[in-house]
Amino acid sequence: MIGKPTLTGMLLGYYLLCPRKAWLSQRGLWMEQESQAVQLGRLLDERSYQRASKQLDLEVELPEGTHLRGRIDWAELQQGVLHETKKGRACEEAHKWQLRFYLWLLKLCGVQAPGGGPFTGLLNYPRLRQTVAVELRPTEEQQLQQYLHQLHQLLLVSRPPARCTRRSFCKKCAFEELCYG
Ligand code: SF4
Repeated sequence: MIGKPTLTGMLLGYYLLCPRKAWLSQRGLWMEQESQAVQLGRLLDERSYQRASKQLDLEVELPEGTHLRGRIDWAELQQGVLHETKKGRACEEAHKWQLRFYLWLLKLCGVQAPGGGPFTGLLNYPRLRQTVAVELRPTEEQQLQQYLHQLHQLLLVSRPPARCTRRSFCKKCAFEELCYG
């Protein structure tokens, strides 16, 4: 029996791509060898924007006891902007929700941009030299909470969901061998 799971931005992004990936990640069932894609993503994250302020960690406990945690890639605090660095745009919807999750955590912590408004987000794709603006509007906040509820329910079950039909991102997933090996 697992205790109360901690919900993170990374798990939310995984859940939206593949619930099985979120479940396996939360149970710590990483394959010993990181896939090349995962290694590349980590390197890219470490080498990009080296002069910018680096990671911020946020933790929030909701009144009903749900524990939320987020590691923000980097932030321009004076501009009120949170950044998330990614390799490519194939999973952009999941990336947007991950960043919205971090915007929500900041809001829950009562942190506002210097002008008094909410923080905004920017997805950075350094390899593509592109950025995508992300906001957290009220309807998106409601949707985000629904996703988190679904993720929470998923993480409480004792068996992983079935593997999805093999998709392009399975090739870059650390669990590919476990699912299809
Ligand atoms: S390899 Fe594919 S099916 Fe398996 S966990 Fe990863 S994304 Fe999901």
